[in-house]
Amino acid sequence: MSDVRNVIIIGTGPAGYTAAIYAARASLDPLVFEGSITAGGALMNTTEVDNFPGFPDGIMGPDLMDNMRKQAERFGAELVADDVTEVDLAADPKVVKVGDETHLAKSVIIATGSGYRELGVPGEKEFSGRGTSWCATCDGFFFRDKDIVVVGGGDTAMEEATFLTRFAKSVTIVHRRDELRASKIMQQRAFDNEKIRFIWNSEITEVLGEDKVNGVRLRDRVTGHESTLDVEGVFVAIGHDPRVELFKGQLDLDSEGYLAVEAPTTRTRLPGVFACGDVVDHTYRQAITAAGTGCSAAMDTEKYLESLN
Ligand code: FAD
Repeated sequence: MSDVRNVIIIGTGPAGYTAAIYAARASLDPLVFEGSITAGGALMNTTEVDNFPGFPDGIMGPDLMDNMRKQAERFGAELVADDVTEVDLAADPKVVKVGDETHLAKSVIIATGSGYRELGVPGEKEFSGRGTSWCATCDGFFFRDKDIVVVGGGDTAMEEATFLTRFAKSVTIVHRRDELRASKIMQQRAFDNEKIRFIWNSEITEVLGEDKVNGVRLRDRVTGHESTLDVEGVFVAIGHDPRVELFKGQLDLDSEGYLAVEAPTTRTRLPGVFACGDVVDHTYRQAITAAGTGCSAAMDTEKYLESLN
């Protein structure tokens, strides 16, 4: 059993590290659980990040996260590379467990992010950052005048495909069924776009390439026919899973399964529990927006702790 901390932060993507920087600078002495495998969060798995302000020549994802980590440490944040395994957020003080170890705090900031759903086919992960992407806003710019494929049939897939036509020579949407799940308006926008075409009832069975992606292998789910399509980019848009398992039953989720907050604040339904970054956000999902709400969470926490005195 430990002393009661002012604040425990769970997660160290842009949201968690930014919360840690602000909380540490406010002398809150934060204890930060980084996660055992994915410390640094989603950007540890990418190459260039070209849209985080302050880096005119871009920066590699892992370097950006390492900088954030160092900045949090510089102000005295205590960083621990462990996974939180259990929480009791209604308790007073709040309980955060790592296996058998128990940590106590007056407040908790949740910044556990969300995972992009993967196709789970050969080549997909291998070519991450070299042709495979899960984020058109992040990577579309790198695909100027290229032929690309978007996988999915929901609103996100239509939005990503339509956005990508600004850069790409052509965009092919590959969908498993013969009709889309996307809203009618998003569908129509995609149907009306001259650069977009559809391959129905089909799935990608392999992402092909050498140094970079140069094609995909397709299988028709009705006929079983296999074919290949020459493309230089593969955008996977089949959804995201917010990391909320630990908090289910304790905090409210919104209609899409993300942690619910009293926007524009980061307050959850439990006093002293705040949430920020992609575990809350299914709209913007960017490093800068995650960092922005991480800042808000630390400031909301500071105000909450003041109110206890
Ligand atoms: P994450 O970065 O997902 O971090 C979540 C953190 O929570 C991790 O540290 C993880 O270890 C931790 N965690 C989870 N569960 C636990 C637990 N039980 N205990 C302890 N810790 C836990 N955005 C851009 O703005 N520009 C880009 O160019 C860009 N490129 C991208 C490329 C790729 C391949 C991907 C996947 C995403 C990209 N994004 C980009 C999106 C961006 O990475 C996310 O929006 C951002 O990382 C979200 O930050 P976050 O802090 O909310 O969550």
